[in-house]
Amino acid sequence: MILFKKKAELQNYLALQKTKEGAIGFVPTMGALHQGHIALVESSRKDNSITVCSIFVNPAQFNEAKDFENYPVTIGDDIYKLESAGCDVLYLPSVAEVYHGGTTGEDHYDLGYLETILEGKFRPGHFQGVCKVMSRLLDTVKPENLYLGQKDYQQCMVIAKLVEMKGMNGLINIVIHPTLRDPDGLAMSSRNLRLNIEEREKAPAIYQTLNKIKEDLGNTDLKTLKKNAERKLHDKGFRVDYIEIADAATLQLTNERNGKQKLVALAAAFLNDVRLIDNLLLNE
Ligand code: AMP
Repeated sequence: MILFKKKAELQNYLALQKTKEGAIGFVPTMGALHQGHIALVESSRKDNSITVCSIFVNPAQFNEAKDFENYPVTIGDDIYKLESAGCDVLYLPSVAEVYHGGTTGEDHYDLGYLETILEGKFRPGHFQGVCKVMSRLLDTVKPENLYLGQKDYQQCMVIAKLVEMKGMNGLINIVIHPTLRDPDGLAMSSRNLRLNIEEREKAPAIYQTLNKIKEDLGNTDLKTLKKNAERKLHDKGFRVDYIEIADAATLQLTNERNGKQKLVALAAAFLNDVRLIDNLLLNE
């Protein structure tokens, strides 16, 4: 694996490889890598001749300074995992390398409804930060295939919209990988490293709650399903930001079920100061 810290050097290398070989697959991450990230790398390796992974803890997408400061960094382990997985290139830029003009930059992305709900509502500015970094990374790597995790359901939709807004729709194919989970159902996440033993024991309740919504979908109205789910998490000691049910294709929130629509349940909740998110397709 070759490690690049400088954008220009990575671009030169990729331009050279592109003339020789086929497609570039790109896996953008914030590091503290786990098997969920590695699954994206493995998926990219199957479809592309070069797999590029980036590790960049993007200050622009943290709406709370403390969350940014506490974000886990395990770069030595990450390099080992990527190398073991056969990743070809690691891009590990500094903040200055990504944001020459500063992280607050002038660019604004019109995400419309998508930015007013769920993560957009509870983490103001978060998706602007995601778009800022992804726009720059896509311009640098210019991948044919982009690998994202379903774990960040709304983020996948935001990035798809960004790709469209950048006029890169026909150029970049987005591959969404199913969420990888620990054996007890907890969605793998870098933030899980911050859970203490007691919190880690409680954490799978989010997935259990989403599964209960799925199980009861046919015989309970959506409002009641959401209310019961929220109560269950609250009783377990979670501080719930939201539990919502939405149209899986548009993310339009809904309290009605028409029987034909594909639905997704999405949750975000804190255990003390660790915020966890998860989602589940209800009627695939
Ligand atoms: P992050 O480092 O958390 O920004 O995640 C980088 C990429 O990995 C994103 O596309 C995530 O959706 C994806 N990802 C994170 N956790 C998982 C997981 N448990 N399963 C599959 N993909 C994941």
